[in-house]
Amino acid sequence: MKVTFPHMGYMYVSLKGMLEYLGIDVVVPPACSKKTLTLGVKHSPEFACLPLKLNIGNFIEAKELGADTIMMAGGCGPCRFGYYAYVENEILKDLKVDYNLVVMEPPEKHIGELLGRIRKITGNRPWLQIIKALRFGFLKAKAVDEVEVLSFQIRPRELVRGSTDRALQKAINLIDEAKTTTELTIALERAKELMRVVPAERERPALRVALIGEIYTLLEPYANVNIERHLGQLGVEVDRSMMLSQWVNDHLFMGLVRNIPSSDRFKKVAAPYLNHFVGGHGLETVGSAVWYARQGYDGAIQVLPFTCMPEIVAQSILPKVSAEVDMPIMTLIMDEHSGEAGLITRLEAFIDLLKRKKEQKEALTS
Ligand code: SF4
Repeated sequence: MKVTFPHMGYMYVSLKGMLEYLGIDVVVPPACSKKTLTLGVKHSPEFACLPLKLNIGNFIEAKELGADTIMMAGGCGPCRFGYYAYVENEILKDLKVDYNLVVMEPPEKHIGELLGRIRKITGNRPWLQIIKALRFGFLKAKAVDEVEVLSFQIRPRELVRGSTDRALQKAINLIDEAKTTTELTIALERAKELMRVVPAERERPALRVALIGEIYTLLEPYANVNIERHLGQLGVEVDRSMMLSQWVNDHLFMGLVRNIPSSDRFKKVAAPYLNHFVGGHGLETVGSAVWYARQGYDGAIQVLPFTCMPEIVAQSILPKVSAEVDMPIMTLIMDEHSGEAGLITRLEAFIDLLKRKKEQKEALTS
């Protein structure tokens, strides 16, 4: 069995770590690229959301590298995600790109359900090994998140353009290469050191902007046209409302791990703007706008794929939130036509607006 999975940012580090810990062969698809998207767009329904198209591209490219089994997250709720894995599998079958499909449905009541599903695909390995592998994968996700957060803080203050990105890639590779928990602890320390020595003006003030919205477009740089990098290079410190370890803990571990920020903090403050689940992360998006405004952020950018139903619901509510919490919010909709130049122009205009607003506020209070 050679397992592959869709790309979603650095998720491959964690999933590969977990599966290899269990002795399973893994084929990581090539990083998302123009070729991935072209393949996906060619073979997917036009109205499908961008993540599905990129997933299809990933799977076709992974097949060329010898993968024979897809591991895919499942889901439920009013949006299309619950059908994704099955629709993708049907598309691949039509293309004669045959795969075994393993859908990891999130547990409904207990984390044991998830462990059972993982155990099944490993040919019933001992429970202890399954638990250790799951923990290892989670620790990798946490390590990646830690260095990513460091990159958010350093990039707007770097002295040599691009040095944060280069250090981040080396740091991620170190984490990826770790094979045991002990190796991972050492790799994380070295990774953090790599980030710490990036030449930067640490005390330089920077605007703070929150990235909120749909998980895939938030986490996958190809889908969001490298928005974090562009904002950082415009001198903006970003914070992402969704980190991989947080999502895993909330949705797969049912909040079992302590000291990991939970999306509950967003849900709690979404009312009175939105009082119920609308599928995907629509509720969290509305709540996160309120939450970040209360933390004193200068602005927020909602990122979503074209036709994403839960985020369209959130988008329709955000203007009211923005007016009442007094924080500018911009929405960026991503699809196969999104281009880097257009994105940068929009970001520059938004950042100019935030700067002026901040200067006016400071002038009034000084
Ligand atoms: S959350 Fe949005 S992008 Fe994701 S599957 Fe649902 S509709 Fe598509």
